[in-house]
Amino acid sequence: MRLRPGLSVLWRGAGETQVGVDPRCSVLLRDLTPAEQRVLEALVRAPTEADLLRLGRSAGVAPERVRELIARLEAAQVLDPRARPAWPLAEPRPEEAYWSRLRPDGDGGAVLEARARASVGVVGLDRLGLTLAMGLADAGIGTVLLEDGAAVQESDVGPYHPRAVGGRRAEQAVGHLRSVHPHVRTSAPPGARPDVVVVVATAVADPVRLATLRRAAITHLPVVVGDVEVTVGPLVVPGQGPCTRCVDLHRTDADPAWPAVATQLLTAAPAPTEATLATLGAALAAQQVLAAVDGRAVAVAGATLTVDALGPLPALRGWSAHPGCTCATDGAAAGRQGGRTVADGATARRPAPTVASAGS
Ligand SMILES: [Zn+2]
Repeated sequence: MRLRPGLSVLWRGAGETQVGVDPRCSVLLRDLTPAEQRVLEALVRAPTEADLLRLGRSAGVAPERVRELIARLEAAQVLDPRARPAWPLAEPRPEEAYWSRLRPDGDGGAVLEARARASVGVVGLDRLGLTLAMGLADAGIGTVLLEDGAAVQESDVGPYHPRAVGGRRAEQAVGHLRSVHPHVRTSAPPGARPDVVVVVATAVADPVRLATLRRAAITHLPVVVGDVEVTVGPLVVPGQGPCTRCVDLHRTDADPAWPAVATQLLTAAPAPTEATLATLGAALAAQQVLAAVDGRAVAVAGATLTVDALGPLPALRGWSAHPGCTCATDGAAAGRQGGRTVADGATARRPAPTVASAGS
């Protein structure tokens, strides 16, 4: 038997031992004898039950008591529920270990297997876009498709090397990503559909690009860097509102001049992204994409998360489908063809997306 990856056996004092720290994956055992505490400490070596019983016998702990302690650890879900080879154990990747601690079935490996099969596009490769792409690859996404025809600016340096300045963003980003993660695919076979496309933009996301994704029934996530804040969401799942057009229509209700303003913002020279906004926005977007890919609850489904460089806490705002938008009625048709999940979205039979691979 072994503990869930990363959990420690901690001596708190005479008679008290705790396993793990976070309340979601820990247990505190009291009224233990010194010998029982030693038996528990042996758990970090991933012993078999026979090993523990033998250790108990030599230390003077009865087999029934050893089994009782094991049962308490099992009930507290701090033991890895999976059957694993006893020793030697390959060190799990940090992501696998993390989800092994949190998932009831302890199977963090299944999370990584699904991520390895997933394909995520990132359109817009400024500081934020490249940081996001790297974060997705770090987290185990198997295919990361990158698109941006603009040149690397001085203000992109950080995730980009200063030597990359002047080169094409997509090529430089692919080179950087593959130098760190050589096994990540950066191109997809013709006709393959990404599970999610993240559209990173300054001031306002390109409505033509968003409409193309909507028509192709590809799950997409806008990330927009504003004057002082970055907004992530809503995640638009084919067949479900609200979509980005709904958000635009709500903004127009609040400010009738918004379409005129948005059109001008679209053609204005993009302002460089502040460093912490890039990091915070990329982290939020990566977390939400991974939630969608993993099949967990997505905070930005029908909502946006907004954060600025003043404070660490993002604000969550919910959006409703706008009565003037057709995504709700389109949804009835698309909903029959796909479902809520990214995987279902990927089965929809529609034309291939426009996310181009930047070569590999
Ligand atoms: Zn809509």
